[in-house]
Amino acid sequence: MSTILVIEPSATLRFGVRRAIHLPGLELQEDADSAQALVRLSSMSGQSGCPDAIILGWPARATSELHELATVLCDPPCNRIPLMLMVQDTQALNGLALLNRKATLIQHWRNLEETTANLQQMLLAHNPPNITEQEQYPVHVLLVDDSKTIRTQFGGLLRKEGYRVTLTGTAAEAYEVAKQQPIDIAIVDYYMPEENGDVLCQRLKRDPATRHIELAVLTGNYDDVLVTAVLASGATECMFKNESSRLFLARVKALVRSCEQRRIIAREKQQLDNILDSVGDGVYGVDMEGIVTFINPAALKLLGYDRESDLLGQSAHALFHYADVAGNPVDPRHCFLQQAYQLGDELLQWETQFQTARGTAISVECSVRPRHFDGYLAGSVVAFRDISERLLFEEELKWQVNHDHLTKLLNRQYLEQALEQEIRRLFRTGETSALLFIDIDRFKQINDLAGHAAGDQLLIEVSNKLKQRVRQSDLIARVSGDEFVVILHNVKQEKAYKLAENLREILDEAVFQYGERVFDITGSIGMTMIDASSFSAERVLANADSACHTAKCQGRNRIHLFDEDKDISPFDKQEQGWISRLTQALEKGRFQLAFQPVFATYHVQSILENCDTKHDGQSNLIDAIECRCDFYEVQIQLPDAQGNPLPAAAFLPAAERFDLIGNIDCYVIKRVVNLIRRQSCNGCGSMAYAVSISEQTLLQHDFVTLLDNLVSEAGVAPEALLFSLRENHPGSHAREIQAKLTLLYARGFGVILGEQVRGYTALTHLRQLHASHITINENFIDGLPTDPIDQAVVRAIVDVSHAQKRKTIARHVENLETCQALAHLKVDYLQGDFLAQAISESELEQGVTVQPARQIV
Ligand code: GH3
Ligand code: MG
Repeated sequence: MSTILVIEPSATLRFGVRRAIHLPGLELQEDADSAQALVRLSSMSGQSGCPDAIILGWPARATSELHELATVLCDPPCNRIPLMLMVQDTQALNGLALLNRKATLIQHWRNLEETTANLQQMLLAHNPPNITEQEQYPVHVLLVDDSKTIRTQFGGLLRKEGYRVTLTGTAAEAYEVAKQQPIDIAIVDYYMPEENGDVLCQRLKRDPATRHIELAVLTGNYDDVLVTAVLASGATECMFKNESSRLFLARVKALVRSCEQRRIIAREKQQLDNILDSVGDGVYGVDMEGIVTFINPAALKLLGYDRESDLLGQSAHALFHYADVAGNPVDPRHCFLQQAYQLGDELLQWETQFQTARGTAISVECSVRPRHFDGYLAGSVVAFRDISERLLFEEELKWQVNHDHLTKLLNRQYLEQALEQEIRRLFRTGETSALLFIDIDRFKQINDLAGHAAGDQLLIEVSNKLKQRVRQSDLIARVSGDEFVVILHNVKQEKAYKLAENLREILDEAVFQYGERVFDITGSIGMTMIDASSFSAERVLANADSACHTAKCQGRNRIHLFDEDKDISPFDKQEQGWISRLTQALEKGRFQLAFQPVFATYHVQSILENCDTKHDGQSNLIDAIECRCDFYEVQIQLPDAQGNPLPAAAFLPAAERFDLIGNIDCYVIKRVVNLIRRQSCNGCGSMAYAVSISEQTLLQHDFVTLLDNLVSEAGVAPEALLFSLRENHPGSHAREIQAKLTLLYARGFGVILGEQVRGYTALTHLRQLHASHITINENFIDGLPTDPIDQAVVRAIVDVSHAQKRKTIARHVENLETCQALAHLKVDYLQGDFLAQAISESELEQGVTVQPARQIV
């Protein structure tokens, strides 16, 4: 029995871990409180009493107890215990000494289903099983001969070779032994008084209990008729008593090899049978028309049917996948599964809904694998599982990610995102909102006088009071210890001040009672207005925090309104300089363009193969790819005072905030269109260019018209331009963006979509959008050569994209192994400094060839 200690404050996440672990012989102990776990682990001496593994939830902001716990886990005796760190975001682990610990494995909360496999691997690495040679089963040979001399002679030979040997003198006796003992090989004398060897062989082959035995007949002399009879009886060998011992043993060896093959097949069959018996997944087979040809009991149960005859011979689409995730009927011609059956496509982890016999819908994840027979498509096998619980759990996990566990208010992470969105909204609408930064006065005293638990209780009570008082449309979050932030939407300063005063009064009037003790509480509030000129969430929060600090300095229990002119912002005014800098760069045409080559994988593939074997990759790579760049990715740069190019990331966020991004994007597009026109005038042939634009630009009402005019005036084919969206704010303006992208696609422009979000949402989302290319998220690329999960994800994206006739692009490819892995997974295009660096506009026009950034050896 192994003991696993789970340390995680959230009951939901602990429940998730309990559900995810399904290994026999494990005892789970749980600590909700890291302080409690700290006491437990600190008191351990030596190995006794130590858990066999620890699963530790590591939050975005770790408490001091958790850091103390991490120190204990890095020191003996706990440093030897296998540790699984569960995280929402691996960035939370930056700089953590726990990572240098030997037996530490990091797992994302969203990959809970991997917990069992990871745990098993950790436990095995810690306690490798000790399998001895003796445990291996020796081959059991039955030797039947009426001559004692022969039995002694050949029996001795076999034993010397390490076989387990049973000797019998008659066929009847041999038959009984064979039925009762696990015999692998029977060597039978041909001439025996009661019954000849070939007859015994026939009996052994007929009986299901003995038919697996490998048979050989032993005879004194060679005779054609006899040998023919022996082989016809089911024996596979005929041995001769006057042969050399070496030949006899060589023949036995051949029989042993057959036995081993049989054992391997039997073991595999057994394993398959076990899997099918125990598998909770539904499995069904369909022919190319989607007609159900078989279905397993688990599938019947999941779909709510009693008998397989209720489904056999009927269309799977008509029976249970006739509706989409929203429950709307789907025409079979547009049904993704039905298409997969017909085209023989493989689909992995496809998430959809199946309708049950009871008329309810279940969320399922299914994999479709085509079956081929004699090289022809014979149908598909579909395995599916009910993921309703997992989706619920993911919902719960999402809640955990966005909320503070103690007060159940929204957390800082959510607030920062919401604030960014609010600033963007105010930028468009011109309205004003306010942000209040509330900090409890002298909160530490309560912790010190009444204890941490009392402090916690106070935080919960304060949260409830504030929550009750803020308007429904407002947003309240706990951002850290005793700090709360409220966003008051669409208010003028006067109204906001009144609402802030309201909250201050609530705190002032509140009395906190803990046991016998009573505490007066107050809070200080920093307030700042938010409007179109607010630069960033970070800045707004910092200003409000600074105003709160001023309120504290002025005597606490008061409100201070941040004043841009009088108060010193924690941010300098540097950012404002961007407005004039960007405006001037536009007016004076100071922006520079760089062109990063993107290569079709099949062009690079043969060179990659050569690199691997010949070790002279660099020259090969340059020669071969310099003429085979398939399109260019356009990058915008702005030279700094020294003339060094600043990358887009340094100035485009500011350009967005100051509403200059539309002008900048259009400027780039015009320059690229002109370049294409010049190239075709010079007879250089037409090259395609991928341009990133912002959502703001795409959403401009006249953007598509502007594009139409540009290309038609320049005589440039729309296919020469591919557009990708620079940022992704999931959910916001999804419909308008979708409509605009559809419009671009319909006009013949290339549309590159980023596979930004993981899993179901992303694939479903991607399916609905019109696009010519899909960019694979970089997070899946870095670890691709070694990480099977990344490989599975990329394979799925490629499969889905190809099924929809879209090309896939992998960007920032950094090394040969990644190139090879991507080529293996059939990703269509590769881009990265490793293959070739970006070139300037003048280099491009002069026909300079691309250069790889690093030498490949
Ligand atoms: P000030 O009047 O200047 O605000 O001082 P203060 O005593 O309220 O202290 P401050 O706001 O600077 O610090 C808040 C303290 O809250 C620090 C930390 O010990 C404590 N704290 C942080 N998180 C928690 C928590 O989850 N529970 C409890 N009980 N205390 C916490
Ligand atoms: Mg405080």
